Amino acid sequence: MKMIQLLPEVAAFLDAAQGLRIDGEQIATSETISVENPSDCSILAQVACANAGHVDQAVSAARQALTGPWASLTPHDRGQLLWKLADAIEERKDVFGQLDALDNGKPFAHARDVDAVWSARHFRYFAGWPSKIQGATIPVSTPDRFNFTRIEPVGVCGIITPWNYPTLMVAWKLAPALAAGNTIVLKPAEQTPLSALYLADLAHEVGFPKGVLNVIPGYGRDAGAALAAHHGVDKVGFTGSTETGRRIVEASAGNLKKVSLELGGKAANILFDDADLSKAIPGAFWALFGNNGQSCTAGARLYVHRSKMDEVLDGLQELANGLSIGPGMAQDAHALGPVISEPQMTKVLGYIESGRADGGEIVAGGARQGNSGYFVQPTVIAGVRDDMAVAREEIFGPVLCVLPFDDEDDVLARANDTVYGLAAGCWTQDISRANRMAAGLKAGTIWINCWGDTDAASPFGGMGQSGYGREMGPDALALYTQTKSVWQG
Ligand code: NAP
Repeated sequence: MKMIQLLPEVAAFLDAAQGLRIDGEQIATSETISVENPSDCSILAQVACANAGHVDQAVSAARQALTGPWASLTPHDRGQLLWKLADAIEERKDVFGQLDALDNGKPFAHARDVDAVWSARHFRYFAGWPSKIQGATIPVSTPDRFNFTRIEPVGVCGIITPWNYPTLMVAWKLAPALAAGNTIVLKPAEQTPLSALYLADLAHEVGFPKGVLNVIPGYGRDAGAALAAHHGVDKVGFTGSTETGRRIVEASAGNLKKVSLELGGKAANILFDDADLSKAIPGAFWALFGNNGQSCTAGARLYVHRSKMDEVLDGLQELANGLSIGPGMAQDAHALGPVISEPQMTKVLGYIESGRADGGEIVAGGARQGNSGYFVQPTVIAGVRDDMAVAREEIFGPVLCVLPFDDEDDVLARANDTVYGLAAGCWTQDISRANRMAAGLKAGTIWINCWGDTDAASPFGGMGQSGYGREMGPDALALYTQTKSVWQG
């Protein structure tokens, strides 16, 4: 198979010793992380690995930077820096695309055109905000008093991100946090630290003062836990699993730092009998298989009206069997890469077996593909019941569960019967029914006759155990600012 040639900049980046980025310097560590390519199990690079001491160092650099040149930048200047960073990401989108395709395994075109390009847009959207973060004058009832509010940064933000969209998950948090004037210590996922390190270098290059963005790859149990518990951190912005989210909340109790959480999901996607199947079948298919099922919003529980079941299953089977799978850097266009790691592959294959054992029917896929790299066939399981593990637990891989239903009220209750609440949606041509679903489904994002759309201007986040806080749009600024009330006599 022909591979895309590495850009010289990417080859040099992989060859160089990659230190932590703290206070504008590279810091070598005695322990390193061997970053793996999940497409062929080769080692791509050795990256520094932070311990609790490095977390201290990074937090103190971020604390110092809060009162350095960063603090005296005007809102206009802060916006300019964010805009320049957006330009730089866009100019180097091929580099970002290659780095994410290599350590995540997703197809290069997806990594470039989704992760990198949307990240640039995200920084661009938030570049417009620093000059619009404003307080209010309050009509208080005390005579001879003037009361107004100031909207201030929270301070030092610990940002912890997952591996599924390595650049984008970082951008979602960094852009509003920087727009609001905070300083950052970022711990990217151990599997995908490359683009975060590269982003730190770009931020430095475009003029962010040293110490404003510190990037410290490391293991969650060490560096992540130390960052979440650190008393010098004012806020933690976290995206990852619900289980880790719980640990972050516990760790934050020491200094009662603020926490926002974007966690797991098990989205219900309801295909009604009046749906336009020419759109709904591919829509429901990609709702799960986009990003190889490794999306928190994946439409993992597909409820299909019993009268349409055969037609829908035939369509899903045809799409799954026709998908091409390949290494992230394969030259031929392909739709899916490997899953992220061996443990993840084992977990996904285990869920397929459990679905089969619990009475599900595998209508497509159902096994590992090949034996080099962590490839799993796109799998569709029919005849799934709500009480099966595959219907209740987040698989986070290319496994679509299909469940029949007969009645609207019943399917709504079943869709909402989950601890999660990140996303949900439906396919129908009845506008009244669409509105009933928009109101009745318990999730932070509802898609109707579409799936997966997000925009830097539109709020995104979870209900229930999918987390709290809303990223994107003005809501994201609320996560990274605090309000001060000022009285003048
Ligand atoms: P994860 O295991 O929770 O890891 C996420 C991040 O947390 C990683 O950087 C990880 O470090 C770190 N971490 C692990 N244990 C920690 C601890 N005790 N204290 C502090 N940090 C710790 O999740 P994942 O497997 O990478 O990502 C998949 C999960 O993320 C899924 O559940 C998915 O639904 C969720 N997700 C949610 C959204 C959303 O917006 N709601 C978006 C994307 C993904 P290591 O890498 O070293 O373990």
